[in-house]
Amino acid sequence: MHCLFCQHVDTRVIDSRASEDGATIRRRRECEACGERFSTLETIELKLPAVIKTDGRREAFETRKLRQSFDRALHKRPVPEEQVEAAVRAVVHQLRMTTEREVQSRRIGEFVIAELRKLDHIGFVRFASVYRSFQDVADFRNELDRLERETPDEGQLPLPGVGAEAEVFPPGQAGGKPRKR
Ligand SMILES: [Zn+2]
Repeated sequence: MHCLFCQHVDTRVIDSRASEDGATIRRRRECEACGERFSTLETIELKLPAVIKTDGRREAFETRKLRQSFDRALHKRPVPEEQVEAAVRAVVHQLRMTTEREVQSRRIGEFVIAELRKLDHIGFVRFASVYRSFQDVADFRNELDRLERETPDEGQLPLPGVGAEAEVFPPGQAGGKPRKR
C-alpha cells in the first residue's frame, strides 16, 4: 500500500490487531521513505449479488424489500417479530453464500418460500400462489393438499373448498376483491 503522505510506493506493516469480534483487522503502517505512520482497517467484503428481475432489469438487493415480502405474506398472521427477522437473515445469508454476482429474483423467491413454509402455512400459500403463479385452481389445491399431508396435526390450514380461496388470495389476485360466499 502506498504512503498517504508522500505517495511512496510501499509501506511497512509494523503492527496488526484483530478486532474483538474478529471481523476487522487494524494494521499500523510506516512509510519507508518519509517515516510517517498511519492505520488501515481491513474488513471482510460481504457483497450481495445484484437481483435480475423477471423483465431482465438489474437492481441492487435491498433487505428492506425482502422484509416487505415477508410482511405482505404474513399480514395479520400470528408470527413473532423475531422469527420474521430470523427468516429475513436466513435469506440474506443464503444470498451471501451464492458465489454469483447476480441472482434471479425467482431464486430469492424460492428462498422466501422455503422460510415462509417453516414459519406459517397461510403466509407460505399466499406468497407461493403469487410467486409461482399457480396455473389454475387445481394446482393450488394440490399445493394445499400436499401441505396437509405433510403436516396432518397442526390444523393451520383452512379446509380446502369453503372460503379457502377467498381468504388466501390477496386483493388483485384471482380477479379483484376476495369473494365472500
Ligand atoms: Zn511517505
